[in-house]
Amino acid sequence: MPTLLKIVQAGDPVLRGPARDLSPAEITGAEVQQLIEIMRETMREAPGVGLAAPQVGLPLRLAVIEDPGEMPERERKPVPFHVIVNPRLTLGEEVVEHFEGCLSVDGFQALVPRARSVVVEALDHRAQPIKISAAGWYARILQHEIDHLDGMLYIDRMKSRTFTTNRNLGRYGEVGVGAAG
Ligand code: ZN
Repeated sequence: MPTLLKIVQAGDPVLRGPARDLSPAEITGAEVQQLIEIMRETMREAPGVGLAAPQVGLPLRLAVIEDPGEMPERERKPVPFHVIVNPRLTLGEEVVEHFEGCLSVDGFQALVPRARSVVVEALDHRAQPIKISAAGWYARILQHEIDHLDGMLYIDRMKSRTFTTNRNLGRYGEVGVGAAG
């Protein structure tokens, strides 16, 4: 079992700085391949549905995603584990609002308006080009993770008066959301 990485919290400058692209040789190299494995385990342990390299202190344009959850009311369906590197994001026009959280803003959630659908062009874990067309919760995860690569957090986009602890969201708001990236 690889050692888990520490997830940095809001206030750490690495979450606010730019992240750099990886070359195909770096992606397929041993270091990044091991990083991907450790990030996968760190995400699962958290648990979260996505984890971006800046969240483990590395300013690299790489994120891992995996969502085992299913919630039809949020258009949430299981997404198998995969990696996006150097992603380019195109937003659809329709905007939807849901509560979301972040492993780097631990313990809180807020309503965040985001595009309902996106197209992402990126490289995968083998440095091969991929094109992802996503809608619903998966599109939200992609936007959340790619924001991390641009030094953005959901708190920059949230409706700030809906900001709540997870506990109070369960008590006064929607029940059992608990998907963070
Ligand atoms: Zn996050």
